[in-house]
Amino acid sequence: MIKNFEYFAPKTIEEAISLLARYKDESKIIAGGQSMLILMRQGLIAPEYVIDIKSISAMDYINFDENEGLRIGALTPHRAIETSPLIRDGFSVLSEMEQNVASVETRNWGTIGGNLCHADPAGDPAPVFIALKGKLKLVSSNGERTVAIDDFFKDYFETALRDEEILTEIQVPNPPPRTGTAYRKFSILQGDYALVSAAVSITLSSKDETCSDARIVLGAAASVPRRAERAEKVLIGKKIKDSLLQEAGKAASEEASPISDMNASEEYRREVIEVLVKQVAAEDWKRDKQT
Ligand SMILES: Cc1cc2nc3c(=O)[nH]c(=O)nc-3n(C[C@H](O)[C@H](O)[C@H](O)COP(=O)(O)OP(=O)(O)OC[C@H]3O[C@@H](n4cnc5c(N)ncnc54)[C@H](O)[C@@H]3O)c2cc1C
Repeated sequence: MIKNFEYFAPKTIEEAISLLARYKDESKIIAGGQSMLILMRQGLIAPEYVIDIKSISAMDYINFDENEGLRIGALTPHRAIETSPLIRDGFSVLSEMEQNVASVETRNWGTIGGNLCHADPAGDPAPVFIALKGKLKLVSSNGERTVAIDDFFKDYFETALRDEEILTEIQVPNPPPRTGTAYRKFSILQGDYALVSAAVSITLSSKDETCSDARIVLGAAASVPRRAERAEKVLIGKKIKDSLLQEAGKAASEEASPISDMNASEEYRREVIEVLVKQVAAEDWKRDKQT
């Protein structure tokens, strides 16, 4: 049963952060409620004050600017990202990723900011935003700061977010020319959380087919989504070919730290990572050649 709490529904960011400053760690933000309500119903969290930010319309938007890149308000629902023509045309990996997040019902309620702040290591958006070199805008009554998504996740369900802060915006720079990014998750049922997932971004040199930059990010392969930097180094500076992708997959599987649980053993997850990274990188490489 959910313990009684006092409920607030601020209409502006200023109102929300002033409530957070007042009630600090006795309060909890709720956005789409898709994870929060489960935790509250199970008695895992019992805030005295619940601050419902869902009606702050100024945090629900998808904008694009040639110089600044993509800007997504933290309250944008998954489904809006999935179906946005702007995202489908310019950042197709995001709409492809969203198609496999939970069910349509959950995607209609769940917000992109709530997903990142919940920090489930098996969440789908985080690896993709890390591969795209995304940043997060965090706002409190003391001001605002921007952190790289790489530095946001600290441990299972733990982030760099301070008690008095809210996430307001996700920022994605324009990728350099000849860059392709792809994502795939491996799960038992369509829409389930990933057993493991991989996002790969490859940039080819402007002169030839050499890989000038690579990001390989694994989901559900450690306590936080994180880059497989040794695997990235396998690709950077070399001409991409099948055997190199295979080598990168092997390196990623070796540097991952997956757990064993009721869904899969650590060994099984490592095997899948090896294959998944190779497949996603190959898909990426194909995209690069088309740009
Ligand atoms: C059945 C089911 C299946 C799911 N499957 C998947 C899946 O396959 N892949 C996947 O990635 N996700 C999955 N999810 C998660 C879902 O997609 C939502 O993204 C997630 O529940 C959080 O979004 P929300 O807006 O509902 O956040 P809430 O539940 O409202 O909040 C989650 C957490 O984030 C904090 N928070 C929310 N917004 C902010 C903000 N702007 N600033 C600061 N803190 C904030 C809250 O305080 C809370 O701690 C699933 C959820 C369900 C219920």
